[in-house]
Amino acid sequence: MAAPSALVLRCEECGDVPHRVLRGKVGGKADLVFEGVVKCTKCGRVRAVVTREPRPIEVPVVVSWLGASERTTMEFAPDEVVAVGEELELGEGRLLVTAVEAGSARVPSAAAKDVATIWAKRVDQVRVKFSVNKGNRTVAHDVVATPDEEFEVGEIVDLGKDRALVHHIRTKHRTLREGRVRADEIVRMYGRVVRERTSR
Ligand SMILES: [Zn+2]
Repeated sequence: MAAPSALVLRCEECGDVPHRVLRGKVGGKADLVFEGVVKCTKCGRVRAVVTREPRPIEVPVVVSWLGASERTTMEFAPDEVVAVGEELELGEGRLLVTAVEAGSARVPSAAAKDVATIWAKRVDQVRVKFSVNKGNRTVAHDVVATPDEEFEVGEIVDLGKDRALVHHIRTKHRTLREGRVRADEIVRMYGRVVRERTSR
């Protein structure tokens, strides 16, 4: 394994600061062991070091989104705690942990090395339900949006093949016949297809 170009290490003078790796190698089995010569980026002191940290482990993650679920894995330090309600970064996306399975039980939290499966859902995007009247029938559409994206009564939404005018918006507490609301508050939008191109 190639040595990193820099490591955050403790310098006696400067505390925990980045050190440039002048030369070194990484080995080890259960632990990742770095052996090499480093230079403190703050005071310039050069010294030989050996560092040891637990090798990250891969934990299975089931990600649900838009009614489907997908299996993947994420890397954790073995002692890192995974908890229900916590947010995780996965690539470009953000996940909310909805369940943690350790042993064969669901638990509120556990160290990554004890976790069998993490269940999570994507929280960086939501699905807005949109019932669109097409003359003699109503068609259900899903509009994908970020949670804080707003929709407005009177707005025209592009549905790919069709464009539809938002007529009213239902949230958990009320029905809007004018105004705007965040995507994550919308229970369902209602509208009708518009044929002609309208400039906004
Ligand atoms: Zn230093």
